Amino acid sequence: MRAMVLEKSRALLLMRERPTPAPAAGEILVEVAACGVCRTDLHVVDGELPNPKLPLIPGHEIVGRVAVLGAEVAGLAVGERIGVPWLGYTCGVCSYCRSGRENLCDRPLFTGYTRDGGYATHALADARYCFPLPERRDDAEIAPFLCAGLIGWRSYRMAGARGQGGYAEGASPDALGLYGFGAAAHILAQIAAWQGRRVYAFTRRDDTAAQVFAKSLGAVWAGGSDEMPPESLDAAIIFAPVGALVPLALKAVKKGGRVVCGGIHMSDIPSFPYRLLWEERDVVSVANLTRADAREFLDIVPQAGVKTEVTRYPLAAANGALADLREGRLQGAAVLIP
Ligand SMILES: [Zn+2]
Ligand SMILES: [Zn+2]
Repeated sequence: MRAMVLEKSRALLLMRERPTPAPAAGEILVEVAACGVCRTDLHVVDGELPNPKLPLIPGHEIVGRVAVLGAEVAGLAVGERIGVPWLGYTCGVCSYCRSGRENLCDRPLFTGYTRDGGYATHALADARYCFPLPERRDDAEIAPFLCAGLIGWRSYRMAGARGQGGYAEGASPDALGLYGFGAAAHILAQIAAWQGRRVYAFTRRDDTAAQVFAKSLGAVWAGGSDEMPPESLDAAIIFAPVGALVPLALKAVKKGGRVVCGGIHMSDIPSFPYRLLWEERDVVSVANLTRADAREFLDIVPQAGVKTEVTRYPLAAANGALADLREGRLQGAAVLIP
């Protein structure tokens, strides 16, 4: 197999040939068809997340086909298309796992971070954490669902999506702000608009291309992140890794409103006056995903008719894809094709 490998933090990935591994009991070998490039990959490569496996094959938005079944794998067939997400393993016995919060497991493994991922022609995965992807559409166009879509969905639920166990049943975020209009927001905006929400998209100041893009996907308004929207928001989700957006988003939400931080890493949040938090506004973070989130999200995608905008790169161009994401040169999502 071939893989783009991170051998040390803050270095370029290197193309390496390796023997194709055989799946252990409970695992499958996946022949990778496409692997999305997520902002978390940047944080891993840039050394902003602690203790990655090294050397590491990044990538946790894997779409591929089952090539080999390990022993004791049930419910999957060779040749079947499956997705491999960020959550690669959980212990099943810690208090979080036992209370339906496996996203907070004490001893998890994460694809493309603490186990090898999908910037490769092949990848091993624990079969219990993979999802069949029967919907007939292009492999590359599905890849961003595996993290950008899932984390966006979990963030949206935390923001109080109607009937989805949000923080206040019935207090749905009719006016929803999305800060940072990248891969996650471009998927979530379509679902929220389909559900009848008024979506307000906040981008870098003067990024008119991103603002036009957001409006084309259902946003009723788009502007710079330092601008106030034309109405107070019920909730806001911050996808950009910029801590300075937290007080800005708090300023934009109404009494009782919620600000959800959807990223795994963010620059420091500057101090801000208490009055921005006063009146029962709250700030929460979203960590990882559960398998239940994935099933729910993958079920709603075809109903909402979600389209993805992807830029394809050959596997060998992974460093270029990461650079384009880092520099904000992408619209939608980058996807590697081995
Ligand atoms: Zn656990
Ligand atoms: Zn991700």
